[in-house]
Amino acid sequence: MKKLLVVGMVLLYAMTMVFAAGAAESSSSKGMIGVVMPTRSEERWNKDGAAVKSGLEKLGYKVDLQFSDDDIPTQVRQIEDLITKDAKVLVIASIDGVALSDVLAKAAEAKIPVIAYDRLIMKSPNVDYYLSFDNYAVGQQMGDILIKGMNLDNPKKKPLLIELFGGSPDDNNAYKFYDGAMDRLKPYFANGTLKIGSGQQGMDTVGTLRWSNELAMSRMENLLSAHYTNQTLDGILSPYDPISLSTLEACKAVGYGTAGKPLPVVGGQDCIVASCKSILAGDQYATVLKDTRVLGQATVVLVDTIMRGEVPQGLDTTSYNNDSIKNGKPYIVPSVLLKSVIVTKDNLKAEVVDTGYHTAAEVGL
Ligand code: BGC
Repeated sequence: MKKLLVVGMVLLYAMTMVFAAGAAESSSSKGMIGVVMPTRSEERWNKDGAAVKSGLEKLGYKVDLQFSDDDIPTQVRQIEDLITKDAKVLVIASIDGVALSDVLAKAAEAKIPVIAYDRLIMKSPNVDYYLSFDNYAVGQQMGDILIKGMNLDNPKKKPLLIELFGGSPDDNNAYKFYDGAMDRLKPYFANGTLKIGSGQQGMDTVGTLRWSNELAMSRMENLLSAHYTNQTLDGILSPYDPISLSTLEACKAVGYGTAGKPLPVVGGQDCIVASCKSILAGDQYATVLKDTRVLGQATVVLVDTIMRGEVPQGLDTTSYNNDSIKNGKPYIVPSVLLKSVIVTKDNLKAEVVDTGYHTAAEVGL
């Protein structure tokens, strides 16, 4: 299915390239596209930024790529600058999904189309498109990882104990991931197979501001000392690879991963190099790969379609209500939602290395 989708995207891209060649425009006349990523300090956003920039440049656009250091005022300022510099389209991966309403009103006044990249921008009707993965399905995959890794359909003991970690409460994706995962895990809580050792649940309680692995690690340390001196933790719901690695580290520090005390089963998201190494070493159990090259490619096709004055076709118009009103109605942002893949030790070579996402040398194969 994913392969078909990728082939589809590549074909679409190839067609776009043909049109672009025919158009015989000089790169300066094609104008500048503003691309804003939340931070350089996470592996994925660097890959995203690079994929979008190189794809657009190949089509002859100028690209102004900014990284916002996970700082909201910096991101707002960067978007304002891009509006002043006459960006033709803005592609924005927000830090805080609700902090951009004012600056997006300025973009709308200047008639600049806005694409929310990966993270939905909330509470603003001035978001023209949303390009992401099917984030609820990503969350379901996070749940599926635990069902398989913990063998929840045929448990060795009952209840198995788990702790839940959520993503950043200012990121709409974090709720989709959490809800998707809980959707899958709910039956196992209901039939007594799974139990949250600390009882802590709900994004208000288990969310991790700005996806901070340090915050997650100290929460894990506290959970271990408060709830696991007389019982063993069997699994951790993790929405993000650096959180998976830091919670595993906290577990190792109190003796997990030694004979008779296996590490808890931990999934993750983003398929970062360090997690691939950890998966191959048998520590982290799995991760969810959201191929940034495919998302980047989809962005290039969408930007180019908009720039040609064409109306993008085949978008999802039922899933992503961004909590704003447009034309008197709740606004559902037209979306492109891509498919993600679960990666374990068994398919890491095929899905990650053979596809060129990371090299064999990077992951230590
Ligand atoms: C993205 C994830 C990423 C997380 C932290 C989320 O919005 O969808 O891929 O791990 O942000 O950057």
